[in-house]
Amino acid sequence: MKLSRYILPTLKEDPSDAVVLSHRLMIRAGLIRKESAGMYVYLPMGWRVLRKIMGIVREEMDRTGALEFLMPELTAADLWRESGRWETMGPEMFRIRDRNGLEYALAPTHEEAFTAAVRNIISSYRDLPVNVYQINTKFRDEIRPRFGVIRSKEFIMKDAYSFDMDEKGLEASYQSMRAAYRRIFERCGLDTIPVEADTGAMGGSDSEEFMVASEVGEESLLICDACGYKANREKAEYRRPDNKKGDKPKPLSEVATPDVKTIDDLAGFFKCSADRFLKSIVYLADGKTVMAVVTGDREINEQKLARAAGAAAVELAPDEVVVETTGAPVGFAGPVTTKNIRMVFDISVKHVVNGITGANKKDVHYEGVSPGRDFSIQEEADITCAEQGDPCPRCGSAMNMKKGIEVGHIFKLGYKYTRSMSVSVLDESGAEVTPIMGCYGIGVNRTMAAIVEQHNDERGIIWPVSVAPFDAHLVGLGKSGDEIAVTDAIYDMLVDGGIDVLYDDRKASPGVKFADADLTGVPVRITIGKTYFQSGEIEVKQRKGSEIFKVNKEALVDRIKELLK
Ligand code: ATP
Ligand code: MG
Repeated sequence: MKLSRYILPTLKEDPSDAVVLSHRLMIRAGLIRKESAGMYVYLPMGWRVLRKIMGIVREEMDRTGALEFLMPELTAADLWRESGRWETMGPEMFRIRDRNGLEYALAPTHEEAFTAAVRNIISSYRDLPVNVYQINTKFRDEIRPRFGVIRSKEFIMKDAYSFDMDEKGLEASYQSMRAAYRRIFERCGLDTIPVEADTGAMGGSDSEEFMVASEVGEESLLICDACGYKANREKAEYRRPDNKKGDKPKPLSEVATPDVKTIDDLAGFFKCSADRFLKSIVYLADGKTVMAVVTGDREINEQKLARAAGAAAVELAPDEVVVETTGAPVGFAGPVTTKNIRMVFDISVKHVVNGITGANKKDVHYEGVSPGRDFSIQEEADITCAEQGDPCPRCGSAMNMKKGIEVGHIFKLGYKYTRSMSVSVLDESGAEVTPIMGCYGIGVNRTMAAIVEQHNDERGIIWPVSVAPFDAHLVGLGKSGDEIAVTDAIYDMLVDGGIDVLYDDRKASPGVKFADADLTGVPVRITIGKTYFQSGEIEVKQRKGSEIFKVNKEALVDRIKELLK
C-alpha cells in the first residue's frame, strides 16, 4: 500500500474532546474519526486493525466448534415480547417502526434472535450441544457515550450463545469459552484480568468478566495478590470481624438533631466514627419498598441488595415514598420503628453496640441502639461494597482495588430464554427437554481501544504484531528519480515476499515520515535513505525497540519475518 494514495490523516495535536489516551491516539494516528456523539468512522487503517481482531476472535471461536451466523440487526418486537424484554429493556434499546407500523428494535444484543433461530432448527438431543455466534453490530442508546470507541452507541460485538441438554453440558461449553477467551486476549497482546462477576437477576450461576486494568476503567475490581481471588466490585465479598466491640449497651434514647442528616454531619455532631451509625436507606426493589440498613462507614452495593431482595433491580425511593414509608423526611430513617417495613440488614449490623440511627421523626435520632433488642434482624445479607484494603473472603489478606475496562463477558444464562420462548428438543427416551444456555460477548472496538491503552509510548501506538494494521512501514527518503525507482523495487520485493507493507512514498521530510511511522505504530520500520544509497545497507528498526539493524537487500525479507515472529 502506497501512502501517497492512502488516507491516513495523522494529527500532531491531541483532539480537544478526547479525554482518554486510546481515544486521543486513535484519532491522531488516523484510525478513526468522530461522526457524531458515540458514533465513529473507521478509516482504512483503523478498519484493518478491527479486522485483525475479528480474525483472531473468529479463529478461536471456530476452533471450539462454534458456528458463525449472520443475524439481522433489525429484530421484531414480537421476539422481545416473547421473552418479556420489550417491556424491561428500557431506553437503552433503540426502537423503530416500519411503514406499516410494525415495531422493531435495533439489536442491542441477540439472545432472543438467536434463541428463535435455533428453536426452529434443533429438535433432537442429537442436535446438541451447539454454540452459535456472530461478529456483528450492536446498537445501544447509552446514557453517556464516552471515551471514544470504549462506550459508543454503535459497536461491533462477537456474541455467542450455547445450547446444551443439561447443566453438565453447559459447564463444558462455558469452560471451552473460558479457555477460548483467554487465548483470544492473549493473542491480541492484551493483559486481561478475569474476574468473578455479578449475574444480576439470574443468581447463583457462573459469570466471568475479562477486564483490562486502566485508570479510565468504569468498573472496580478487588484483587487479592495473596490467593488470587479477583472479583468485580458488584460481586466482591470481604471478611467482616465477628467480635462485638467492648462497650456496654446503653439504654435507647432520643437526641434532637436539627438538620443533622448526612453521615458526615452526624459523625461531627455525635463525635464518633461512621461505623457506629446504622445508615438506613429506602429503596424500591422491583417497585416494592425495602429499607437497606448498613453501617455508616459502608456504601450500599445495589447489585448485592437486589440479589438479597430477590429483585431484578433496585433504585432509590423518591422522597415522597420515604416520607410515606418511615413517617419522617429523608435523613431520619431507621430500623427502630413500629411500622411494618421490609428491611434487609447488612451482615455487619448485628455487631454494632450503642448504635445511632434516625428515629423516623424529623430532626430526631436514637442513640444507644442495640440490634436484637431495639429491632429484630429478620433478613440479613452482605449488601455493602468491598473497599480498598478489605480482607479477602478466601484468605483474609488485604485486597487491592483497581479500575478496569470490561472487554469480554461470559455467562451461564440458564433457562431464561429457552423457557420463555418455549424451546425444546427430544431426549433419547423421546421426552421433551428444555435446553440450557450460555452467552459469551466480546466488544471488538473496545478491545482495540484497550490494546492501544496498553501498548503505546510518548511517540504513539506500538501495535502487537498480531493486530497491527501492516507488518512493515517502508520509509522512502530518496529524492532523485533513480533513488525512488530503487525504493519502489524494494517495495515490490517486500510485497512479493509476502510482507504486508505500508510504503511512505510521499513527498515529505524525514522528520514527518518518522513521526508518522512512530505514531501509527507498525511493528517494523524499514528505511531506504542515505545509508542505503551510499553503502547498500538497509536500516530496519522495531517500533518497540531502539536498536537499528543493518540488513542487505537479499536478507531483508527473511529478517523482517524473523522480527515479526
Ligand atoms: P458495560 O457494563 O460496559 O456497559 P455491558 O455489560 O453492557 O458492558 P455486555 O452486554 O456484556 O456489556 O456486552 C459484551 C461486550 O460488549 C462488553 O464486554 C464490551 O466489551 C462491549 N460493549 C458493551 N457496551 C459497549 C459500548 N457501548 N461500546 C462499545 N463496546 C461495548
Ligand atoms: Mg452496558
